[in-house]
Amino acid sequence: MDSDSQHLHWMQEAMAMAEEALAAGEVPVGCVFVRDEKIIAQARNRTNQLRNATRHAELEAIDEILADKTLTPTVTKYPLSTTTLYVTVEPCIMCASALRQLGIREVYYGCGNDRFGGCGSVLGVNSSLKHPEHPEYKATGGYRREDAIMILRRFYITENTNAPVPKLKTNRVLKTEIV
Ligand SMILES: [Zn+2]
Repeated sequence: MDSDSQHLHWMQEAMAMAEEALAAGEVPVGCVFVRDEKIIAQARNRTNQLRNATRHAELEAIDEILADKTLTPTVTKYPLSTTTLYVTVEPCIMCASALRQLGIREVYYGCGNDRFGGCGSVLGVNSSLKHPEHPEYKATGGYRREDAIMILRRFYITENTNAPVPKLKTNRVLKTEIV
């Protein structure tokens, strides 16, 4: 496989996690962390389930990696320095910062995050913001971007249908055109 089809392959795995999030009523964002051509952790957003706004897919997976002695055998400053992240939506400012502090090698994402994006959309936490200590990392978007957008739309068009007083969303139509 050339590298682009490799990236698309890993992103497909991340999309599968986003689908799992959607099925669980979570904002559908999923990710996989890849090291030595293997997925070492995969996760999805769990903010509703855990009632914790910090439980983004990336941080869920990072906790798993750091807790596993086979994946993190020794205490090192940058435990993700040989690990690449594939995530369906651009990491938010919080996650982008965590990834930098743990020395992630590189990030590939699906669609940008206009409200909270930390890899350029709102703030360039990954590289353009200077940091005295932590190395910058490259973040590249556009891998399965349309799929990432469509699954978010599928979520937002149906959200709150289980709320005690459902909001009327009868005039909501799923937009399939992506600019
Ligand atoms: Zn995040």
